[in-house]
Amino acid sequence: MKVFGHAEPGAPAEEIELEKPQLTGSEVLVRVTHSGVCHSDVHCQDGYFDLGSAGRRELTASGAQYPVVLGHEIVGEVVEVGPEATVQPGDTKYIVYPWVGCGECQACREDRENYCSGAKRNLSVALNGGYAEEVLVPGDRYLVPLGDIDPSFGATLACSGLTSYSAIQKIMPVPAEKPVAVIGAGGVGLMTIALLKALGHENIVAVDVSEAALQNATAMGATATVVAGGEAPHKDIVAAGGEKIAAAIDLVNNGDTSSAALFAMANGGTLVSVGLFGGQFTFPTALVAFNLLNIRGNFVGSLPELKELVRLAQDTDLPRPPIQELPLTAQQVNAALDGLRNRTVNGRAVLVAS
Ligand SMILES: [Zn+2]
Ligand SMILES: [Zn+2]
Repeated sequence: MKVFGHAEPGAPAEEIELEKPQLTGSEVLVRVTHSGVCHSDVHCQDGYFDLGSAGRRELTASGAQYPVVLGHEIVGEVVEVGPEATVQPGDTKYIVYPWVGCGECQACREDRENYCSGAKRNLSVALNGGYAEEVLVPGDRYLVPLGDIDPSFGATLACSGLTSYSAIQKIMPVPAEKPVAVIGAGGVGLMTIALLKALGHENIVAVDVSEAALQNATAMGATATVVAGGEAPHKDIVAAGGEKIAAAIDLVNNGDTSSAALFAMANGGTLVSVGLFGGQFTFPTALVAFNLLNIRGNFVGSLPELKELVRLAQDTDLPRPPIQELPLTAQQVNAALDGLRNRTVNGRAVLVAS
């Protein structure tokens, strides 16, 4: 089976032929029909994440072995099943939950596999991902039926959608009219805005350095925008929301953005740190106490959250970010990753099998 893998950190994707796996237990082999290209894959291609003064987190520390096959926003059809699987091969499309944990730790037993403290089996890191013709999924429980959702949009629910949904769960409840800042209007930011709107939120402040990104944000439901980079960004955010913000979801999370969000925060507000751009923030610790602030981290989401999100997408006509469809080839994997790295992709890129 053909995969589009990276031979070493920084290398471009190339076509690699792998032997077909022998399926055991409830494993399933999925033919990839749609594969979203997420910004975190750019960091994975580099082979590390910037941890500020804590150095780097190498991809190999998360169980990656080269060549790595990236891509974790996968929609596809089951082509082969293990002896204990309860799904059948056929043309039913599924969204693959890629954030597979060890299956044994406390978090995994509680169905919070994104909190796994054991040997994670995330697709695109420890296991091969969806820049491939076929992908091995370690259990049929990780397949969520797509239903009538557009498959390219459905693919993006597995990471950018799920991350947004899970981050929003961490700020709620917030009264509909109280300002919530969404920092970064790329793929995850636009989805966060769309979901906040779909959930009835009425005061959504989008913050980005790019005017084009902010136009997308307004189209998705942002009610005010802030061009980042001013002298006092926290004041710009407060002015845009009409008062101090009740919460911020920071999809950039580079230090400057987190500090701005915390200085703009109303008493009792919540900052959810999501972005992986790296860096470090400084903020007066006494103000965290005086202002009763909450600082929470978010990394993707759980399998039950993905199922809730897919139900929401099936029941609601969610606004969608612009999606650019490209052929699922090694060349286009590289073109899409370069596009994200250079910020020339407007909205989302999804690779589609021919
Ligand atoms: Zn992702
Ligand atoms: Zn675990």
